[in-house]
Amino acid sequence: MAHLRYSALDLVQKRERIEVRTPSEKISDYFGELAFGPKQMKAALSPEVYAKVDAAIVNREKIDPETASAVAAAVRVWAMDKGVTHFTHWFQPLTGATAEKHDAFFDPINEIENLKGSELVQQEPDASSFPNGGIRSTFEARGYTAWDPSSPIFIYGSTLCIPTVFVAFTGEALDYKAPLLKALDAVDKAATKVCRLFDRNISKVNAFLGWEQEYFVVDKALYEARPDLVMGGRTVFGHNPARGQQLDDHYFGAIPGRVYDFMRDFEIEAHRLGIPLRTRHNEVAPAQYEAAPMFAAVNVATDQNQLLKDLMNRVADKHKLKVLFHEKPFAELNGSGKHNNWSLVTDSGINLFQPTSSARENLLFLIFLVTTVKAVHEHADLLRASIASAGNDFRLGAHEAPPAIISVFLGSTLTKVLDELEKNGNVKIEKGDNLYMKLGIDQIPEIILDNTDRNRTSAFAFTGNKFEFRAVGSDANVSNPMTVLNLIVADQLRDFYRKVNKLIDGGQDRRLAAVDVLRDYIKTSKKIRFEGDGYSEDWVKEAKKRGLSNVKDTPYALDFYKDEKVIKVFERHKVLGRIELEARHEIMLENYIMKVQIESRVMGDLAHNHIIPTAIAYQNKLIQNANGLKDLGIDSSEIIKTIEEISKHISNLRKLVHEMIEARKKANKIEDSRKRAIAYCDDIKHKYFEPIRYAADKLELFVDDEDWPLVKYRELLFIR
Ligand code: ADP
Ligand code: MG
Repeated sequence: MAHLRYSALDLVQKRERIEVRTPSEKISDYFGELAFGPKQMKAALSPEVYAKVDAAIVNREKIDPETASAVAAAVRVWAMDKGVTHFTHWFQPLTGATAEKHDAFFDPINEIENLKGSELVQQEPDASSFPNGGIRSTFEARGYTAWDPSSPIFIYGSTLCIPTVFVAFTGEALDYKAPLLKALDAVDKAATKVCRLFDRNISKVNAFLGWEQEYFVVDKALYEARPDLVMGGRTVFGHNPARGQQLDDHYFGAIPGRVYDFMRDFEIEAHRLGIPLRTRHNEVAPAQYEAAPMFAAVNVATDQNQLLKDLMNRVADKHKLKVLFHEKPFAELNGSGKHNNWSLVTDSGINLFQPTSSARENLLFLIFLVTTVKAVHEHADLLRASIASAGNDFRLGAHEAPPAIISVFLGSTLTKVLDELEKNGNVKIEKGDNLYMKLGIDQIPEIILDNTDRNRTSAFAFTGNKFEFRAVGSDANVSNPMTVLNLIVADQLRDFYRKVNKLIDGGQDRRLAAVDVLRDYIKTSKKIRFEGDGYSEDWVKEAKKRGLSNVKDTPYALDFYKDEKVIKVFERHKVLGRIELEARHEIMLENYIMKVQIESRVMGDLAHNHIIPTAIAYQNKLIQNANGLKDLGIDSSEIIKTIEEISKHISNLRKLVHEMIEARKKANKIEDSRKRAIAYCDDIKHKYFEPIRYAADKLELFVDDEDWPLVKYRELLFIR
């Protein structure tokens, strides 16, 4: 193993940079050339067909067979022109990865290349091996994929990829996309209704998402010499390097050469696929970086994020690098998140979270702002559940990451506006009064947040013209949190609409009615608002006093999915049914168990087969040395102390690993997955991971560097 470490280090020394050529000086020359987006569709389809497809996308309607055939024919010609031979339905099963099954265009019966309309619209992959949480028994493993025309078809390698939903034959969703599309539909419907109370020009509201993807990059050979990274994506052992992130010198520093080449390379490929990447920079921890695109419709942005992660893996391979998407690959360093910037925009072009100089639009702004706060207040626990994963548990609440407590930050300006609104809500309005002025909402500054009024420690922050959900993990499929966020806001908007309508029916002015409901929302959602330091211990105490949940571990956080209130809100908007929620709960628990189990096994294996033998070999060297010293009559007491120390850690390590294996055996016998997940969490992870790591990391400090088998943190983080 020490041999593997040194040959890996040797390889890294010999690495050469790989030349990256841009197809053209201007990104616009090749942007989107591999995506069959609106521009390409317009060029390839007759105006009538294009109009039908466009209408179907806008209204989320089914595409008729004739139109589907026309699109299939056009997209096949477009793709074959670019050397494409196969097509696949590209979908997002609950494994967290993306899946595809490739079929050739070649039709052997007629000996022609073909793509039928029906093949574009629907496919039946053998679904037996995808997780379904017990929805379908495997003997009738019938699920089908169905085209989602709202996300562009794209070319990946020599394959045409058709974004699809994945559903069971019996109708239940088996993927991430199906419920997301339904939640987006729900928020559109509810938001449009509310908008139309005040503005008849609005007939649709779209949700937008701009994600910021954080990740680590390490050399491929070093990665491969770390079984824990290979198996679990995270280092389970490793002493902190002398220099970590204390200097803060990595943040926005120069990007190292090979990583820079890699970034340029994947950016070019992303641009060709129509992913509008704009931002690249170093993050806080050494070897940590971020990529962010221009925001897009939630559904499209979600697909782009999944696609980009895959693309980054492939391009990294070419550069002999490895991307780590895990939320916490290195202990004691910052973890990786994926901030979800989210907004609602009307088809008339109004960003509903953008304060303006128009008083009427500001009322809409306040309605959407306050309703969102109220939605988060009502469903903070569900939001927490939506970001729960074994990896994110390591990140939340540690090293510059938001805690597991959900709260909303609004900034001082808006806090003042809401305070005013609450106070002035029942002012007397006389004929001819400027109602907006009387309510104090006529003048909200258009640019609300300057740099001093930015709170980076909040899980859910208002950032000027959008909300930023920061607790999402870097490895997550953002469909989950985006489904929940759009769903709960839809539900709150529905509530708002009903209450306002009732007041209007009772004869009240609609603006005053809206303000009445807002005042109630402001009053009843106060405990979710927090402007202070979300990273501080004080906040943990304060949140507890307020009665906010602080659930640190996934198996417990997932319980929120079983709440009657949660099931009701999913059912009310037909996003997921009770059975589907139960199935998902089951899958997420199993996923958690698997992750912790793998880590625990890797720990045992590394300790037993690598660390303990190495430590013993080194100890023997010391014993020889001590004996030699004794023969010469020289004092060997210091060496003997070291030998004793090493002995202590070795036997601790042995004992703990043995106990952990026993605990695993016991946990594996538990039938109920929730109880098994809890056993893995409490009796294995919390009980053994830290103490085992402590002993192993101590031994790393004792053993001769020459002999140490695992690539060290300083090598992983600083050599490239
Ligand atoms: P920061 O790191 O300061 O939070 P970035 O510029 O890195 O900000 O990321 C901001 C992200 O927010 C980008 O992906 C951007 O496209 C996105 N964004 C900007 N405006 C909106 C909006 N109205 N709705 C959704 N996302 C937005
Ligand atoms: Mg951000």
